[in-house]
Amino acid sequence: MTADGFLEVENVTKRFGGFQALSSVSLHVRQGERFGLIGPNGSGKTTLINCISGTLRNDAGRIVFEGHDLTAVPAHRRTRLGIARSFQIPKPFASMTVRDNLTIPLEYAARAHGVDATEQARAILRLMGLEAKAHAAAATLTQIEMRKLELGRAMAAKPKLLVADEAMAGLSSAEVDDILDILFQLNARGITIIMIEHIMRAVMRFCERIAVLDAGEKIAEGGPEAILANAAVERAYLGQ
Ligand code: ADP
Ligand code: MG
Repeated sequence: MTADGFLEVENVTKRFGGFQALSSVSLHVRQGERFGLIGPNGSGKTTLINCISGTLRNDAGRIVFEGHDLTAVPAHRRTRLGIARSFQIPKPFASMTVRDNLTIPLEYAARAHGVDATEQARAILRLMGLEAKAHAAAATLTQIEMRKLELGRAMAAKPKLLVADEAMAGLSSAEVDDILDILFQLNARGITIIMIEHIMRAVMRFCERIAVLDAGEKIAEGGPEAILANAAVERAYLGQ
C-alpha cells in the first residue's frame, strides 16, 4: 500500500536545549489504519505525539493531516481538524463527575459539529462501559475506569485520528483486553488509531503496522511479524 495523504510526518526534528529528542522522523499513517508506535522509554514517542497534536512545535520537518500543513496550526485547531489524543497520565477534572468530564469537551465540539452534548455523552459512556459511573467524581474511579474516561474525553472531540498514549499502562491482562475491545470498536467505526504501548501482546494483536523509535530515530517499520523478527528492534529493547 502507498501513502494516502491522511497523516504525513516528514523529517520531524525536536530538540530540548542541546538534547535531540527526535531526529528527522518520518511516518505515513493511512486512513482507517491501526498503527503502532513503540520504542524504549525516552525514545521520543510522546514527544512525537505532542508534535502531531500541537502541544509542542517541531523544530524542523513538517506534519500534514488530510492536506493541511499543521506547521502553523495551534493545538485547538488541530483538535477541530480531527486529531485527538489521550494522555499517558490521565488528566480529568478530578472533582467533576465522569459525565461532566465528557460534556465539557462535547459542548466545545458541538460548536464545531452541531452535536447534542447530552446524547453524545451518553453514547460515549455506553461505549466505554462507564454508564454506572456517570455521576461519580472522576477522582473516585479505578485505574481502568480512569483510562476509559481518558479515552472517552479524547472521543468527545469526535476525532478522525485518535492517538492513545499508553492507554493500558498498569492494567491487568483482562483489563487490557477490555481496552483493546473498545479500540477495535472505534476503529471499526472508521477512526484511525495510533497506539503507543509497551504491552507487546496488545501491540501485536491490534496494529497492522508498527514503527519503532530508539533515541529519537525511527529504526524500523513494518507488520507485527517483521517487527518481532527485527534484530535492531531487539537490540534497542535489550539495550535498555
Ligand atoms: P517516550 O514517550 O518514548 O518515553 P518522551 O518523548 O517522553 O519519550 O521523551 C523523549 C526524551 O525527551 C526523553 O529523554 C525526555 O526526558 C526528553 N523530554 C521530553 N519532554 C521534554 C521536555 N519538555 N523538556 C526536556 N526534555 C524532554
Ligand atoms: Mg511517553
